[in-house]
Amino acid sequence: MAGKAAVPCTETERSGVGTQASENAARRQLNRPPRVRFAPSPTGMLHVGGARSALFNWVFAKRHGGALVLRIEDTDASRNRPEWTQGIIDSLAWLGITPAEYEGPHLQSEYAEQHAQAQRTLLEAGDAYYCDCAREAVVARTGDTHRGYDGFCRDRGLSPAGAALRFRTPDVGSTVINDLVRGEVSFEHAALEDFVIARGDGSTTFLLANVVDDATARITHVIRAEEHLSNAPKQQLLWQALGYPPPTWAHVSILVDHARKKLSKRRNKVALEAYRNEGFLAEAMRNYLMLLGWSPGGDREIVPWKLIEAEFELSEVTSSPAFFDVDKLRAFNGEYIRALPLAEFITACQPWLVGESAPWQITEFDADVFVALAPHAQTRIVLLSEIVPMVDFAFLPHPVRDEQSWNKAMKDPAEQILDAAITAFADVKWEPLALKAAMEQISLGLGLKLGKAQAPVRVAVTGRTVGLPLFESLAILGRKRTLQRLADAQRALQQSRLTTP
Ligand code: GLU
Repeated sequence: MAGKAAVPCTETERSGVGTQASENAARRQLNRPPRVRFAPSPTGMLHVGGARSALFNWVFAKRHGGALVLRIEDTDASRNRPEWTQGIIDSLAWLGITPAEYEGPHLQSEYAEQHAQAQRTLLEAGDAYYCDCAREAVVARTGDTHRGYDGFCRDRGLSPAGAALRFRTPDVGSTVINDLVRGEVSFEHAALEDFVIARGDGSTTFLLANVVDDATARITHVIRAEEHLSNAPKQQLLWQALGYPPPTWAHVSILVDHARKKLSKRRNKVALEAYRNEGFLAEAMRNYLMLLGWSPGGDREIVPWKLIEAEFELSEVTSSPAFFDVDKLRAFNGEYIRALPLAEFITACQPWLVGESAPWQITEFDADVFVALAPHAQTRIVLLSEIVPMVDFAFLPHPVRDEQSWNKAMKDPAEQILDAAITAFADVKWEPLALKAAMEQISLGLGLKLGKAQAPVRVAVTGRTVGLPLFESLAILGRKRTLQRLADAQRALQQSRLTTP
């Protein structure tokens, strides 16, 4: 970079890593089982993009007989919260990345001594120097707000007190990042400023702490989000300066929404936990996340996890932005729900049935009734949370009153239909086919199609115009409650006829 002072180390040592060197490093690394890591900062809930990086790391490690390390990068005390750490661990476990699957979690904050030691090593080797320049002073000197640090303090021999520590980047040559997703990416040293590795208070910055922790954990492959690609050349220089063989890199693309904009907390639902709470199945979610940038080939999309573990290749992952398509994710979820054995479907629904959010009293819930309804519901819901409006008619003392449904269904000749149903259902055999036959008679008598004729009955009994197959629902609800609800609806209709002019 123009304006930099002379570099005290030899150019051959510092002029960057050539293609040959990075190939050698990659080759060396292939000979030993990979060690990868997921290194989230606990500043929020686990983002779907983070979850996808975690899965890529996990599957890559499994596929090659390696190990996954979980490191919580908790050094930004102002933004971290312990509950976020637990939330991340829980979200990972939901996806299948349970504590048995990884080493750790290691907390970055517990490695402050190793970070400080690395600062000393770099300082003593002449690879780092103290700098007390204020940003404004740099801008005043360079006359350019966009330009990086100008190397002013390189040879001033400042002492630590209150000064930041900067890494002395090479002036010439380039660093080549050997990236399994992007190929070789070359960065000119002239464009790399002498970046800060420790703040004035002595604390180590992300760039160095992240490298020290990776090197200490003998990480061989750094698989992480694209937004860190620009850090990679700086970090690779640090790996080398500290005497470690740099890792192989894999920077996976950003996720974008339907407008092709980067997923953001403000515009999109990005927390994995939010999807879980809505009733996405972990199996559907992880299958879907694995396809963001990778494909098992052919038209295959919904595939057994075993196949993903057997076939995933980082080198097949595309570098273009991946569309996080919620509609497609929903379709995946519907398929996964339908494919569940009934008993597992019933278990998966439990949190919505007996949890705090259930709209009925726990004493009103009847597990046997749910078991009878479940097969009908399983084919009709896309999210587990949708189970509630499907079956609430069976557990609430009165059906919900959905005004839209009511107004739509309770038009003339709704009263006549309800009258006829009350009469017919009083002594019909209480099973779906007989109930249907009775309803067909009614519709025939009134010259209506069955669908039209059954709408007031459905709304009277379930509160909604759409739901589970009607006659199965009535059969499960029982004669007494069905007749009671038909009579209630009939009364309500009479009432409104008398009160509306
Ligand atoms: N803590 C960093 C993040 O969450 C991790 C960067 C990395 O994986 O190297 O973005």
